[in-house]
Amino acid sequence: MRFSETASLRACAEVDLAALRANVRTLRARASGAALMAVVKSDAYGHGAVPCARAAVEAGAEWLGTATPEEALALRAAGLDCRVMCWLWTPGGPWRRAIEADVDVSVSGLWAVGELREAAAAAGAPARVHLKADTGLGRGGCQPGDWPELVAEALRAQADGLITVVGVWSHFACADEPGHPSIQAQLARFREMVAYAEEQGLRPEVRHIANSPAALALPEARFDLVRTGVAVYGISPSPEMGTPADFGLRPVMTLKASLALVKKVPGGHGVSYGHLYTTPGATTLGLVPVGYADGVPRHASGTGPVLVDGKLRTVAGRIAMDQFVVDLGGDEPPPGTEVILFGPGDRGEPTAEDWAQAAGTIAYEIVTRIGTRVPRVYVNVNPEQNG
Ligand SMILES: *Cc1c(COP(=O)(O)O)cnc(C)c1O
Repeated sequence: MRFSETASLRACAEVDLAALRANVRTLRARASGAALMAVVKSDAYGHGAVPCARAAVEAGAEWLGTATPEEALALRAAGLDCRVMCWLWTPGGPWRRAIEADVDVSVSGLWAVGELREAAAAAGAPARVHLKADTGLGRGGCQPGDWPELVAEALRAQADGLITVVGVWSHFACADEPGHPSIQAQLARFREMVAYAEEQGLRPEVRHIANSPAALALPEARFDLVRTGVAVYGISPSPEMGTPADFGLRPVMTLKASLALVKKVPGGHGVSYGHLYTTPGATTLGLVPVGYADGVPRHASGTGPVLVDGKLRTVAGRIAMDQFVVDLGGDEPPPGTEVILFGPGDRGEPTAEDWAQAAGTIAYEIVTRIGTRVPRVYVNVNPEQNG
């Protein structure tokens, strides 16, 4: 098969927005009553934030979530007008712009309440705040021992008309390991911290703790809102939990390249930097023009799988910055033949999960690291197209 619609492209990441919309609908049905936040941080895990955010909203996502305020503001600048929340703040951050853009913010510590007071006074409007509890992850969030002080400070700022606490939230450490004892411990701690905030007089509209693995496997963790990231992109949070198909999800990204060169070589020929691979006999080599600068993990040297001309091949030797080689075993597909690094898997191509295993990482990292040099090509953009 030739590299069809995008014949002039060296490589591309095809992003199937019909698959994304179907995933959002599946997740919403599973969330049974809880609202759905599509997490589109880090350029929608490499898929492109604005097109993915639009598609998620079309499919019923009520919220969008990002890590940084800049990511949230970019969604507003693109015209997305649903609820947007961002959680990764540092001192001096653009609080006022977030308030003015109607972006919900997260607060884990007293310093942030102080900065928000000033920003809200300057903006002339209260900030919408989600107080973050550290229920056991040990990353962001307020420790239980510090919670009374943070809640009290939030109540004061709310009484002064400078903030409105709209959410209390937390994040799991091990939701992708169903049965892990930390899960129930975090849920119990979360219920206590929410109850305390409510006893003190806060009335959060949304309580939320579930990421994709919890949204998929832990009904009691749904509360009012689930924050799904990786599942929106059709990737299972971990192979141990199941395949995407087990959850009715379909991978959204297909990473393709166009064979740049096919040539005959004798046996005993070293291949790529360091000669980690030597041809076992006379064969043909195919040059695939993507490398670690494009996000193809160098750790998958010698192990990464690709589909060329209907056959599964393995990266031969080192993955270089811009290219790698596959041993085509004597086949001579023409230059320009489509090489699929990963996709949904139903044409026999590898999946992002296969690359994660080849590189010793997680599928989240495989899709998120696809570089800016790889154009994203959107297919099934209109909701009428295949749902
Ligand atoms: C990234 C992130 C999510 C989404 O996690 P997934 O496992 O991809 O669903 C949810 N909440 C927070 C705070 C995150 O940082």
